[in-house]
Amino acid sequence: MSIFLQNKPYIIAGPCSAESEEQMIDIANQLAKAPIQMIRAGIWKPRTKPGYFEGMGAVALPWLQMVKHITNKPVCIEVATAQQIELALQHNIDCLWIGARSTVSPFIVQELADVLKGVAIPILIKNPVNPDIDLWQGAIERFLNAGITDIGAIHRGFSSYDKTSKYRNKPNWAIPIELRRRMPNIPIITDPSHITGNRDLVQHVSQRAMDLHFDGLMVETHPNPEKALSDAAQQITPANLEKLIANLRLPSLISSNDTAQEKIEELRQIIDSLDAEVIDLIARRMNLVEQLAAIKGANNISVFQPQRWQDIIENRTAQGQPLALKKEFVIKLFETIHDQSIKIQFDYLKNNKL
Ligand code: PEP
Ligand code: MN
Repeated sequence: MSIFLQNKPYIIAGPCSAESEEQMIDIANQLAKAPIQMIRAGIWKPRTKPGYFEGMGAVALPWLQMVKHITNKPVCIEVATAQQIELALQHNIDCLWIGARSTVSPFIVQELADVLKGVAIPILIKNPVNPDIDLWQGAIERFLNAGITDIGAIHRGFSSYDKTSKYRNKPNWAIPIELRRRMPNIPIITDPSHITGNRDLVQHVSQRAMDLHFDGLMVETHPNPEKALSDAAQQITPANLEKLIANLRLPSLISSNDTAQEKIEELRQIIDSLDAEVIDLIARRMNLVEQLAAIKGANNISVFQPQRWQDIIENRTAQGQPLALKKEFVIKLFETIHDQSIKIQFDYLKNNKL
């Protein structure tokens, strides 16, 4: 069984960066009795711009061995080069994580996977900084192909041009949910610290991950968060970590209450039949679009009609409003439908050489 499924939730905690021997001994003593399964610390830190604290590097490796000794818990660090992996293995680091800035690069991922061929060590793969599920899945596949059997995915949110979000990295929950569907055997660990960038929001995002039945959390925990040399705003104290864990609600997948479970099944059956109708209606709509394409093609009328599209959006959102369907949802839905309608019309023109 995967190490990351040995406790539900599987909790990894520790500072963003290993800063000094004293800090690491301090955090180890404070986390030794905490209900967590693994300790993290960054020793090579990928910073967006030069001139910031870039980690202590290899001198911190013996500190992690000390943390392991004090806590009796496995330790995990980020690696981004073949040499870093070799040093980590020489110092008996128990688990390695691939950072978000490495996952974006198939060359780097492949190089790291090649170095790990034949090594039995659990690997955690953070999502790439950009919201691209295929890159994330591809990175996981490269490690699976290299023979790594114990792999977990870390959901740490996605950067975005929109800086008005309350989160440092948008969670885009649909992406880890889709990863779960595509790779049901890969445990998913949410990193609420890098998602929020703000310690006040860490509990809320951790709870959301539990509500979605993800398998664990990676929470940046520092003895003195305000003074941290990296990510000071998002780290929490060991005492607050214990509070966070104690306050987590862990919903189960099925209800032990038979009537509730029966009611759920009953509602699901109705939902299934409504979904079948939705599919049927969409297919009928697309069939009409194809008829439209034939008339437009024969009469040299453009596929995209801006005024018509404007009318559709206004009319459908107005229809949804009294039915409590949010405007943004209706717009998104019809954007998807309209996009497909346009594709069908272009395909028709192409196939009929118009
Ligand atoms: C980190 O965990 O400290 C880190 C650098 O993470 P990410 O790769 O998610 O930015
Ligand atoms: Mn960090």
